[in-house]
Amino acid sequence: MSDLNTFREETRAWLLDNCPESQRQPIVKDEQIWGGRKREFPSADAQKWFEAMADRGWTAPTWPKEYGGGGLSPDEAKILQQEMARLGCRPALYEIGIWMFGPALLAFGTEEQKLEHIPKIVRGEIRWAQGYSEPSAGSDLASLKTKAEDCGDHFLVNGTKIWTTNAHKADWIFCLVRTNPDAPKQQGISFLLIDMESEGVSVSPIELISGESEFCQTFFDNVKVPKANLVGELNKGWDVAKELLKHERAMMSSMESMTEKEEFSLVDLAKQTLGADAKGALNNPEVRTKIAALDMEMQAFAQLNERMFYQHKAKQSDPRLPLLLKHIGTKQLQRKDELLLEILGNKSLSWESAASSHTEHTVTRNWAFDKAHTIAGGTSEIQLNIIAKRALGMAS
Ligand SMILES: Cc1cc2nc3c(=O)[nH]c(=O)nc-3n(C[C@H](O)[C@H](O)[C@H](O)COP(=O)(O)OP(=O)(O)OC[C@H]3O[C@@H](n4cnc5c(N)ncnc54)[C@H](O)[C@@H]3O)c2cc1C
Repeated sequence: MSDLNTFREETRAWLLDNCPESQRQPIVKDEQIWGGRKREFPSADAQKWFEAMADRGWTAPTWPKEYGGGGLSPDEAKILQQEMARLGCRPALYEIGIWMFGPALLAFGTEEQKLEHIPKIVRGEIRWAQGYSEPSAGSDLASLKTKAEDCGDHFLVNGTKIWTTNAHKADWIFCLVRTNPDAPKQQGISFLLIDMESEGVSVSPIELISGESEFCQTFFDNVKVPKANLVGELNKGWDVAKELLKHERAMMSSMESMTEKEEFSLVDLAKQTLGADAKGALNNPEVRTKIAALDMEMQAFAQLNERMFYQHKAKQSDPRLPLLLKHIGTKQLQRKDELLLEILGNKSLSWESAASSHTEHTVTRNWAFDKAHTIAGGTSEIQLNIIAKRALGMAS
């Protein structure tokens, strides 16, 4: 038996021993485990499952063992993912430290920084927020104004970041700050790590139309940040920012499998709502054609993801692929939402009425929420601009 087959068998057996039955049910939002000093477990089973995964480093399967990661090869990590999916195991940890900050720190951080932060991310002890966008710097991120002045042994940070998701729950924030106002825009930016408990940091939640408020505005008022918290070289933070965005975009392209939302099978919902003939074919041929077309596109998309996996494994990653995947993946998710709405017809007009079912509310709310995915991590228009320039070689 090959090493990978042995690994698969051992992994399957380990998962069966360590993932309680209750953690093999579809995840619901209230039961997700996010990292952080204020981390809470919704049940003893959830804690047991989380700790088993963290002890093995499998919350970050491919990260090096010396920093607490799983040390798995890409093939082994894929097997772990497949076996978890086969058994329906819930993700053990939700954390942007795992999805985007950790990989950038592994690439650009000093040994001290990696030893300090990576094990805590793996163990879900620290929750991170992202401090990129500013009120006048979203798509044109490099025009950001939050400044960090060199004060000898520390930087003094002043300014504000906006749309900082869950900053009110975060322990630390990674920020892009201006360290040289005289240099051309992208060349005067540095990447700084800031403890949210530092004096002068404050957070103001932004209420959304849905009544939720995951977004915040974060203010920095004469915040002292040790020089040791600079990641990468001074004024070269743009390189770190780009590395991190690569991971953010890859993460967003597979948003459907990452989010806590309940997902619905197009075919099942269409059969229930529109009916099917004796052979099981949908009664509505127009919807049937649309579902088939979307399904084919989604399968092609999965193949593209597969291609990225093998390129990564062969250390031949094409930097253009994450751009394409983010754009296609988020659009596809929105098309699926639109089709679900079309299937439900006027039943999808419901938001919270007692006369409508849980499924009807959820489909509608997912449709509204998923609009965010073509904005977060760089809007679709910006993705297309970059694809036109970098992938197609078109002049701006
Ligand atoms: C769910 C979600 C979570 C987020 N979380 C975070 C976070 O945690 N931390 C963080 O820092 N930021 C976060 N953001 C912010 C996000 O990065 C910005 O919203 C995004 O970069 C767009 O910036 P903006 O909102 O300022 O829009 P703008 O840049 O003002 O753009 C407005 C519109 O103009 C278009 N546009 C702008 N410039 C061009 C151009 N050159 N060519 C063509 N069209 C253009 C855009 O595509 C968009 O449609 C989040 C956003 C969302 C939706």
